Amino acid sequence: MAGNKPEVIGKDVLGRVIKDYASMPWWGKPRQEIPWYPRINYDRCIGCGLCFLTCGGRVVYDWDFEKMRPIVARPYNCMVGCDTCAKLCPRDAIIFPHLGELRKWRDEAGAVGKARKKLEELKAAKGRGERSE
Ligand code: SF4
Ligand code: SF4
Repeated sequence: MAGNKPEVIGKDVLGRVIKDYASMPWWGKPRQEIPWYPRINYDRCIGCGLCFLTCGGRVVYDWDFEKMRPIVARPYNCMVGCDTCAKLCPRDAIIFPHLGELRKWRDEAGAVGKARKKLEELKAAKGRGERSE
């Protein structure tokens, strides 16, 4: 993967574009070193499809039409910190790591300091732009 934009790697059964977010570092930390992704408790899942249908940006899920169940097909495409599908699941069948783990990865990546630095750079660039007008 080159550059800072994810490559398009295909389309899913709904025609949604699939991008390779798994190759994109997260605040400089390799995405594959951050096991933030959904796990399905199939004993609880009722096969409603809400998780599959609502994860349209990252396209983490495929759908098993025989068993009528979601498949976590691209786990590392999941957006670190997102748990929308788990919140929406009517059966609490989607499990994510604990918040403490997420914050540990945040600190390992130095995300807070990097975010602040990025904003300071943007502010400086904005200031230069305003003066040049
Ligand atoms: S939202 Fe929950 S119950 Fe519905 S298909 Fe997904 S995991 Fe199963
Ligand atoms: S947490 Fe968000 S990005 Fe990850 S699988 Fe669920 S809806 Fe998709």
